[in-house]
Amino acid sequence: MSDTEKCIICGGVAETLIDRSNLYNYCFYNCPNCGDFYVSQKFYHKEPQALEEVRRHAAVISGYIREMNEMGHHGKCLTNTSWVSILDDKLVPKTLDEKAIKLLQYVARHMGRTSEPVNLYHGERPAICYGSSKDEVLLLIGMMAENGYLKPQGDGFYILTEKGREFLENKETAAM
Ligand SMILES: [Zn+2]
Repeated sequence: MSDTEKCIICGGVAETLIDRSNLYNYCFYNCPNCGDFYVSQKFYHKEPQALEEVRRHAAVISGYIREMNEMGHHGKCLTNTSWVSILDDKLVPKTLDEKAIKLLQYVARHMGRTSEPVNLYHGERPAICYGSSKDEVLLLIGMMAENGYLKPQGDGFYILTEKGREFLENKETAAM
């Protein structure tokens, strides 16, 4: 049996699909913002305070799960102990600049070789760049467009410019 309710992490999106029947001890979530993940039943039912903590760090947790999904690691599992380690993971951006790079990486990844414009959902899916709100995502999109790294294509779609690609490559080389 599947049903829909708000995502337990980001809380935002109503069309989140939840399957409680597949695996006895876990709920499977498919959130348009976070992506696919599991939550142990024990965590869900017995750890309301820890779940509160997860929600407090929603930007980091949903951003991380999203990035894992993007990298092909679907079905990350949240338990009352596993979620804490996400906060210190080296993938997690600490500054606005680092979030901007996540945004450019997202666009680069989704443009692929086809160079098709990428939907940034008018900021409605903040997990794509670990955004803490729609406004923060819109700010980042605006900054990157102003710098000439992203170019709007209408209706929330963007492409990464040549300048953006070079900027990203320099940042990625510097990070190695
Ligand atoms: Zn979510």
